[in-house]
Amino acid sequence: MINTQYNKLKKQYLFSEIGKIIRSRHDVIDLSVGDVTLPLPTVVADAGRKAADEMSHVRSFRGYPPESGYDFFKKAIKDYYAARGTQICESEIFASDGIKSDMSVFLNLFSRGKALLPSPSYPAYIDANIIRGNEIEFYDKIPYGKKADIIIICSPDNPTGRAMSADELSEWVTFAKKAGAVILFDAAYEAFVRSGAPRSIFEIDGARECAVEFCSLSKTAGFTGIRCGYTIVPRECGLNDLWRRTKSCLSNGVSYISQRMAECALGAGYKDIAENIAYYSANADILCEALNGAEWQGGVDSPYIWLKCGDSYREFYKLIDMYGLGVTPGIGFGEEGREYVRINSFCSRENAVLAAERLKRYIFCK
Ligand code: PLP
Repeated sequence: MINTQYNKLKKQYLFSEIGKIIRSRHDVIDLSVGDVTLPLPTVVADAGRKAADEMSHVRSFRGYPPESGYDFFKKAIKDYYAARGTQICESEIFASDGIKSDMSVFLNLFSRGKALLPSPSYPAYIDANIIRGNEIEFYDKIPYGKKADIIIICSPDNPTGRAMSADELSEWVTFAKKAGAVILFDAAYEAFVRSGAPRSIFEIDGARECAVEFCSLSKTAGFTGIRCGYTIVPRECGLNDLWRRTKSCLSNGVSYISQRMAECALGAGYKDIAENIAYYSANADILCEALNGAEWQGGVDSPYIWLKCGDSYREFYKLIDMYGLGVTPGIGFGEEGREYVRINSFCSRENAVLAAERLKRYIFCK
């Protein structure tokens, strides 16, 4: 019998729906679906070329990769964390093809139960938990006194662009322990943090006992098309062996070429990667400046700006029809987004400047 939970999903995944509408219009600057636009740095592409070449020789050809990732990739991640003072052990690192799929599969570790999800929320969290049959409860602040099995935290957050402070995260850790829950921490945008907010949940005391971190090269290094990420499952949280077991039976690993490129992106190529992130962050500054007089947040620690503007679908159509700007209606991220649109800064500088002019006019005419 088909999993009847599928009947509870929305008909279409938000981003496919919005993408279709935007592509059907001409002369629109697309600041909607959060996909990167800058090409890979040459040094990272070269690492991929070299790895592909190795695959063409009998002495260096490789078949299935190790289920938790190659040692060279895990060492690159360990060093990436150590460089900012967070110590992770290689045995706690698991290569993945990205957060979206890895977090969904991770839900298999839990019996059906209660999941606390942020509101507004990255839509994949909702769909994955519905398919799994979990009871979903949304939070906009810590729901003290509640019991839960899973808590998903996204920081810096998509869609609001806000990064949680160390104090907030510390409170979440205390809450999770009392609630008997595991925190699934989505750090997809950690590399964008500029304010000094934590980039990893493991910067917080006690987090290793109750949290798992999902991270990805998608936004950090422009890998949305390459596919490579990693999940950190500390020994203390009691799920490391189970996850290793799950990886070995439900995954055949991540390609050698992707892992070599990722190793380079986090190591020798990081200077170039950081320049790309700085480019998007400068775009965000240009867009934020245009919002003078409006109510908004984000843009500092993430490529997303969350603009309060009134009915989100009405404003989405207004922005696209009258100003040639494609954004994402906030309602697509849940009820809390009803009055918002999300703007992203993954565009060219030229488009950021043009979009800022259009946004200024939009704000002025409101
Ligand atoms: N988590 C968040 C919050 C995201 O915004 C995205 C992509 O937009 C993902 C995860 C997906 O990441 P990946 O490409 O690693 O699957």
